[in-house]
Amino acid sequence: MNGPRTLGKTVALTFDADMTADQGPRAAAGEHFDNPALIATLRRLKVPATIFMTGRWADEYPAQARSLGRDPQFEVANHSYSHYAFTGDCYGLPTVSAANMKSDVERAYAALLRAGVPHPMPYFRFPGGCYDGQALRAVGALGVTAVQWDVVSGDAFATDADAVTKQVLDGVKPGSVVVMHCTRSAAPTTEQVVRSVVPELRKRGFRFVKVSELIGETPGHR
Ligand SMILES: [Zn+2]
Repeated sequence: MNGPRTLGKTVALTFDADMTADQGPRAAAGEHFDNPALIATLRRLKVPATIFMTGRWADEYPAQARSLGRDPQFEVANHSYSHYAFTGDCYGLPTVSAANMKSDVERAYAALLRAGVPHPMPYFRFPGGCYDGQALRAVGALGVTAVQWDVVSGDAFATDADAVTKQVLDGVKPGSVVVMHCTRSAAPTTEQVVRSVVPELRKRGFRFVKVSELIGETPGHR
């Protein structure tokens, strides 16, 4: 998806905070599914951003979840509880059954609230971006809007920050939604990419906005 192409040169950077149900032992062993340096850079550069957070991530990093959720520079939305796919055949992700889709989204909201995110946004990003009519109906029944993207940064598992930077700069148009990740182990170049992309897009006249500014919603899922 993208926002209106006619409301000036706005762009929404979005960051998926991925973590799956079985990654707890890896986090305990020191692997970083969080990315504090990325968040610090977004704050330093004063870039509003939308974080699509899994409930599992909020359970692992409640202090960071709370800090993001209480900072008006950011908004926190839902990326499922444990990053299971809402369709079959989605990049090898395990699958949530149709019967469990609603409860998975609710479980993620419960985790966000429990971590201290006071007003999670009524937006949902499908794990892997995979959805079909059944998945859309399940999410829609909860009053939650599915939010995709029109610019793939390519930061997942990337090792070349310059290539990711180029892909973002080549892809952004007025109203674009860019997908990136807030999971250092799976997206190690993202902080560096943000440091390059933000000043360049500002030089080109773009203003950074949260997804809510593109689609005109107000906070308060509950
Ligand atoms: Zn994801």
